[in-house]
Amino acid sequence: MTATLPAQLTGQMIIAGSPVTGAGKEIRGFDPAAGLPLEPGYRHGDAADVQAAAAAAAEAFPLYRATTSEQRARFLESIATHLEAVAESLIARAAAESGLPTARITGEVGRTTGQLRLFAGVLREGSWNGARIDTAQPDRSPLPRPDIRQRFVPLGPVAVFSASNFPLAFSVAGGDTASALAAGCPVVVKGHDAHPGTSEIVARAITAAVADAGLPAGTFSLLFGSGQELGIALVTDPRIKAVGFTGSRSGGTALVAAAAARPEPIPVYAEMSSINPVFLLEGALATRGAELGKAFIGSLTMGSGQFCTNPGLVIAVDGPGLDAFVAAAGEAISAAPATPMLTPNIARSYAAGVETLGGAADLIARGAAGGIETCGQAALFSTDAQSFLGNEDLQAEVFGASSLIVRCADDAEVRAVATGIEGQLTVTVHADASDEQAAGELLPLLELKAGRILFNGWPTGVEVCHAMVHGGPFPATSDSRTTSVGARAIERFLRPVAYQDVPKALLPSAVADGNPDHLWRRIDGRLTQD
Ligand code: NAP
Repeated sequence: MTATLPAQLTGQMIIAGSPVTGAGKEIRGFDPAAGLPLEPGYRHGDAADVQAAAAAAAEAFPLYRATTSEQRARFLESIATHLEAVAESLIARAAAESGLPTARITGEVGRTTGQLRLFAGVLREGSWNGARIDTAQPDRSPLPRPDIRQRFVPLGPVAVFSASNFPLAFSVAGGDTASALAAGCPVVVKGHDAHPGTSEIVARAITAAVADAGLPAGTFSLLFGSGQELGIALVTDPRIKAVGFTGSRSGGTALVAAAAARPEPIPVYAEMSSINPVFLLEGALATRGAELGKAFIGSLTMGSGQFCTNPGLVIAVDGPGLDAFVAAAGEAISAAPATPMLTPNIARSYAAGVETLGGAADLIARGAAGGIETCGQAALFSTDAQSFLGNEDLQAEVFGASSLIVRCADDAEVRAVATGIEGQLTVTVHADASDEQAAGELLPLLELKAGRILFNGWPTGVEVCHAMVHGGPFPATSDSRTTSVGARAIERFLRPVAYQDVPKALLPSAVADGNPDHLWRRIDGRLTQD
């Protein structure tokens, strides 16, 4: 196994296996808990670096996509092994750059390596090929039917934008990178300025795995740079064929617009903004209103509320059950300590969002105030359904531990709010057996609003598995037909090709006679492993 790390961080980007010092602005990791900048300095790259990374990715693509599923599975597993080999320094650096507790970062390393191994399993299982064969019917009347076979092929080099709030699982070797590499697409990552050291360590692990596997060096590159300059240059480079992004609504929509304005438009899979409504039904509130109030604040304040699945909206019918919920939630949030947020910018935009909410809704309680500028102070507000439906500001995502309770007059008003909310990553329902009818009326409305509907739980915590959907209608994502977490994320970077009457000797193995890859294939409409 190639050694993954030099003794020290170098402060460099990695373009097709080679360390490159940028010529642009200097950036540094910043420890938000200590309020201190970290060594070493990194420099932003420029258009020439984008050109170099994109050219190398384009050159790597034909060779990389020709690898077998087994070769790519081993490559992904090797990245996971290389990450585990540097776990100690990786965890220390990611915790320092994010202010997140070591236990959380340790869990994120496991999630990141788990994702890579999940996609290795997806590759070996084989149904990602989407193999279908409609056999020829030469004697069909009035016209013969040709032999038509279908499978998926990778789109080409993919640009991935790292997220600030998951320095590992949604960043350099995160779900976008893992699923694009699994699909057979080289990846160029734009690292997030909030965690350059973490990005470098992870990029070195991937680079070592590329070398170990004998893959072309352009299979992977890491760049640093300004989103509006380097980021847009990357998305508009003609060699880039798709984009994965997690971050703000404004950033995601800017990338979608840039990709759509290209001479050759490309798909952008942007996961952006969601306030993850929680519906509390009457029976559940009556039996466990106070208990739910306390548990809700646990979910809201976890990780300083910096989750895309943070429960930023609660909807319920007014009454003693909701009063008990609000009292318990108010008490719990008042006891919530101030915790550092990821970056000074995120802390400032959280404070501004809370101020806007405060101008439009009633304050229930705040958490403790912090001593340093990066600290986030938890906040809980309430309003009534008509005010909520009449004011767009009340639906805007406030990234951090802030939430709004919407008091409704009756079930009809609850359904009106459900109809009036924007697209979401998640919607949660707390319901007892006595709530079955109300829940049944709500469910068809919620299916149109969210990628994931969960009952009697909390939305923070996204299982990485085959059935997960981490997606949803705009503005939760830019493309509601997919997911950025779980096995189906690979589908974002594939497209189907039909092979009509292609000579047998030239057919790809996935759709060849005799089923050499032992795949489940749909033959004349029937799923079979024959
Ligand atoms: P961000 O500002 O959207 O930045 C994410 C990435 O996109 C960065 O690399 C950024 O580059 C780039 N970018 C941003 N605006 C761009 C533009 N107009 N054109 C091209 N590239 C652009 O997100 P963030 O830095 O993680 O956090 C800022 C805010 O995003 C938070 O306060 C929160 O509201 C939201 N956020 C939401 C989620 C979620 O899952 N829903 C997750 C994280 C953050 P630069 O660094 O150069 O701008």
